Amino acid sequence: MKVDYYEVLKISKSATPAEIKKAYRKKAIKYHPDKNPGDKSAEEKFKQAAEAYEILSDENKKARYDQFGHAAFEGGAGGFQGGHMNMEDIFSQFGDIFGSAFGGGGGFSGFGGGSSRGRARVKGSNLRIRVKLTLEEIANGVEKKVKVRRKVKAEGVSFKTCTTCHGNGQVMRVTNTILGRMQTASTCPTCQGAGEVLDKKPKNADNNGLVQNEETVSIKIPAGVTEGVQLKVNGKGNAAPGNNSIDGDLIVVVEELEHATLKREGTNLHHDLYINFSEAVMGVSKNIDTVSGKVKIKIEPGTQSGKILRLRGKGLPSIESYGSGDLLVHINVWTPQNLSKEQKQFFEKMMDDENFTPNPSKNDKSFFEKVKDMFS
Ligand SMILES: [Zn+2]
Repeated sequence: MKVDYYEVLKISKSATPAEIKKAYRKKAIKYHPDKNPGDKSAEEKFKQAAEAYEILSDENKKARYDQFGHAAFEGGAGGFQGGHMNMEDIFSQFGDIFGSAFGGGGGFSGFGGGSSRGRARVKGSNLRIRVKLTLEEIANGVEKKVKVRRKVKAEGVSFKTCTTCHGNGQVMRVTNTILGRMQTASTCPTCQGAGEVLDKKPKNADNNGLVQNEETVSIKIPAGVTEGVQLKVNGKGNAAPGNNSIDGDLIVVVEELEHATLKREGTNLHHDLYINFSEAVMGVSKNIDTVSGKVKIKIEPGTQSGKILRLRGKGLPSIESYGSGDLLVHINVWTPQNLSKEQKQFFEKMMDDENFTPNPSKNDKSFFEKVKDMFS
């Protein structure tokens, strides 16, 4: 007893061609033998769906089926032997129905895989270079021009369609499996899947028709990159042979140069500032480096060693989010190590002076509290 074709595809008699196609697609994917290895009932459903589609997608056959049912195709009069569709016939439909998803080109190349026309576009190899960046460049982003030695197609080189695979990049084999005759694709041994082979090349070119070339490549580096970050410049790696090949990429690895006075910690910067004893006592103004030039900072009279001044937004921008880190200025009071006789006498006099007696207030935070503040 043959199942009704509309029933097989789960569609109504008034389904449009697009709906029929869509319904078949769904069934074919669900019951495909590659997805259901060894499952006889899935194979049967897969064949049924293909058969139903074969009839319902053809206006004439559909009209006859609508009028006479399965009887319309019995006895071979209809030109189509219902139920005798083999796997090869089914797979050969796929090119029309699934287009690029099935790698068309006369071959079935598996689910999800394959590019248009069943041919893998050959891609050249990637090149890697390192660029050294200053903190200032990292802070603002920079455009770097670098010289890159890359392989390009030689002037006057030409490629022709591979005769082994006729440009498909794959050769088909029909094998008998428990699921019936299956077409399997393998990479063409002549062109390694490119679909093209070298035709003519100038003397200076290598066996792939490529030559070494030095090129200046401009690389836009966004602000906030970190050591080890890899940026990709599409198509600036080595070329590959063939008219349809695509060039490899240039991988740019960021290297961070050490700054004379600034240390990086994520988006924050740290600066160790040394002031002398008198400056700490009397107060002072200092020019310090930032990634956007010098800034003047004011140190209040009576500043304790270990104080941290936070310059908001003077750190580095974040590559992932808005805003910038801070610049943290760590104040270190330099205690004099050599004193003149006069200076010695002065400090001796101050030894027991009330003003020289440590008297930390609640506002003078301990080292640990400061660290805690820094990260909050
Ligand atoms: Zn080939």
